[in-house]
Amino acid sequence: MISDDDVAAVERQLGRRPRSIHEVGHRCPCGNPDVVTTEPRLDDGTPFPTTFYLTCPRAASRIGTLEASGLMKEMQDRLGTDPELAVSYAAAHDAYLAARTAIGEVPEIDGVSAGGMPDRVKCLHVLAGQSLAQGRGVNPLGDEVLDRLGDWWASGPCLTPDEQ
Ligand SMILES: [Zn+2]
Repeated sequence: MISDDDVAAVERQLGRRPRSIHEVGHRCPCGNPDVVTTEPRLDDGTPFPTTFYLTCPRAASRIGTLEASGLMKEMQDRLGTDPELAVSYAAAHDAYLAARTAIGEVPEIDGVSAGGMPDRVKCLHVLAGQSLAQGRGVNPLGDEVLDRLGDWWASGPCLTPDEQ
């Protein structure tokens, strides 16, 4: 369940009407949602693998900057050389799927998480969204992304991107 106020905040953050929200996945220190947990099947029937959808425009833009810096390739390389990291990342994939299954089973995306998991790094927004929604200690690479973002809420409620 999500309140009308939260839906309105997410609509401003995304610039469009949000789809098939299951609940607020995480709330920013500013008070607004920054992750919405999304139904694994949208209202129109489409399977939707990104269960933890990052809505905060400020966090999203900072993560975009990290992606452009080459961080994904660096993380991908580390997965190949650090077995402990690889095991933790695979466990994050399992935790992602378990959270989705608790909402509903969708056969088309059975075993498919998001963000490249369990062995690729394809979207840091997805990994950060999981770390916010499921908490620290679940996805090591998502935690690293959060560590690099700083206090994106410091300039007030996150409804629009940072002023340039
Ligand atoms: Zn915020």
